Amino acid sequence: MVWSTMQRSTTSFSSLRASTLRVEVVETYVVDLPITRPHLLSVATMQAQTLMIVKIVCSDGVTGFGEGTTIGGLSYGAESPEGMKLAIDRYIAPILESANPARVPETMNAIRKAIKGNNFAKCAVETALLDAWGKRIGLPMSELVGGRLRDRLPVAWTLASGDTKIDIAEAEQMLERKRHNAFKLKIGRRSIDEDVAHVAAIKRALGSRASVRVDVNMAWSEVEANKGLSALEAAGCDLAEQPVESPTALARLAARFAIPIMADESLQGPETAFALARTSAADVFAVKIAQSGGLYQAGRVAAIADAASIGLYGGTMLEGAIGTIASAHLFSTFPRLAWGTELFGPLLLTEQLLTEPLQYQDFELAVPTGPGLGIELDHDRLRFFQRDAERRSISTAPAQTGG
Ligand SMILES: [Mg+2]
Repeated sequence: MVWSTMQRSTTSFSSLRASTLRVEVVETYVVDLPITRPHLLSVATMQAQTLMIVKIVCSDGVTGFGEGTTIGGLSYGAESPEGMKLAIDRYIAPILESANPARVPETMNAIRKAIKGNNFAKCAVETALLDAWGKRIGLPMSELVGGRLRDRLPVAWTLASGDTKIDIAEAEQMLERKRHNAFKLKIGRRSIDEDVAHVAAIKRALGSRASVRVDVNMAWSEVEANKGLSALEAAGCDLAEQPVESPTALARLAARFAIPIMADESLQGPETAFALARTSAADVFAVKIAQSGGLYQAGRVAAIADAASIGLYGGTMLEGAIGTIASAHLFSTFPRLAWGTELFGPLLLTEQLLTEPLQYQDFELAVPTGPGLGIELDHDRLRFFQRDAERRSISTAPAQTGG
């Protein structure tokens, strides 16, 4: 095993089990990418996005990729891209040394047994294992996590420029290009009156042509939420995401207001999903593969919601193409997906990291049909944006389709 202190870490295993399938190399690196505009949330202002990429090479030559990405370093949650890299290099890679990469659930069980928390890092590794498994047997990832029920997913866009006029212009442009007709507004930074005026102005401008929703990212107290939610209801807002932090307060708000309440940060895997469902703390769950600890765990979150008549929404951590498409494969297996998805992460990046761009058309994202993730990474571009990389030239960015 070789440890490296470089930004790109490679762990190689020499194994005596030459005849059995095994993981030979685990490589992790951090990629810093520019975004199209600053993205303002109650917890942070993003000026760029950082992806942690994990590459797993198996003894049969099959390679899989996974991604761990978060919002604003440690502003959103307990894991940062740099921390995920460390968790994989130091703690997860040694477990992969004795794993059979064709037995993904078994491998993930071993990882979960040995390592507490670190859901984003676990998800990145599981994604890479599933990508390799799918490529090996010639099936898309969706078939390995429940079976695909839809080929296209509705995709919402987040308006988060911080300026009402700019947000309305951006929404009009998205409607015109038929890229998005559901918009999430990030609020909670300003006073409730200012936030509500912002949401109401956008809803007035878009009318019935679009669904307008808000995400407060836990910025309100329950008292503030009482005031904010009643005003948002009156403004025609369709959905309020995680207005408060406390699941108990969330339950009281869900009982009090007609506007659907969505849980996001409170959902950290199946156990929290069950607790929220049992206390009727939310009308909708934002399912996220990273926050749940991987695709299988996120599938369990969705099953709990479905059984409890809680609506489903496919959430994002603003991942690049790998995390976004891994999520899309899982969301395509949901029998009910009443609230669509927000899988627009790659569209926020100015740099596309695929040889063929993703297909965003008619307000939907096409779920790839090829084996594994079904996407082809542009390795030159990935290398160029790798943190501390030796900069060389890159080709011109491939044009985005669908506007
Ligand atoms: Mg959210």
